Amino acid sequence: MITTAQYYYPNRMGRIILLSMEEVMGRNGVNALLKLGSLSSLIENYPPDNTGLDFPFSTVSNITEMLEQAYGPHGGRGLALRIGRSCFNYGVRQYGTQMGLTEMAFRLLPLPAKLHAGASAFAELFNKFTDQQVRVEEEGGKLLWHIERCPLCWERRTYDPVCHLAVGLLQEALYWLSGGKVFNVEEKTCAASGDKSCTIVIDKFPIS
Ligand SMILES: [Zn+2]
Repeated sequence: MITTAQYYYPNRMGRIILLSMEEVMGRNGVNALLKLGSLSSLIENYPPDNTGLDFPFSTVSNITEMLEQAYGPHGGRGLALRIGRSCFNYGVRQYGTQMGLTEMAFRLLPLPAKLHAGASAFAELFNKFTDQQVRVEEEGGKLLWHIERCPLCWERRTYDPVCHLAVGLLQEALYWLSGGKVFNVEEKTCAASGDKSCTIVIDKFPIS
């Protein structure tokens, strides 16, 4: 018998995901989606804003799967990207100071050093306060963001990478860190399609 371990996000992050969905899809859209995913208990009842590890990975992946089911792969992907961007903006308000991202010394770093330091601080936030594991690697002008235990595609099986929310989150993080520059960000491998980890590749040089 295979028993699957249960992993969790802190309530605060679950709350951020739901609030971000509301921003992108409106409250009725979120309620419909939660109903579709048999997550009605979350309707008008978001997790509290605290650090308790009570928001299961299975709920996160259920939500991303329902986005695709309700809006199709293309529409669902577009929404997930936008939700991810919104998550960063909620998150930076909650966690920015804690990560040291708002300190003057950090803000004055040159861009490459800033991206490196930002990625490490961001990875550490997940590693320390959630059951998600992230490893950052540098390889020939690219940053590789390896999610080694990924809530977005948790227990899913798909043909293509599906962790679009993480792509949107990182796009917005880079936009914020660089003061308004756009970077190429792409998920190259995904645990849901049989890879060892979900790996998001970031070009260290902006497109614009
Ligand atoms: Zn994933």
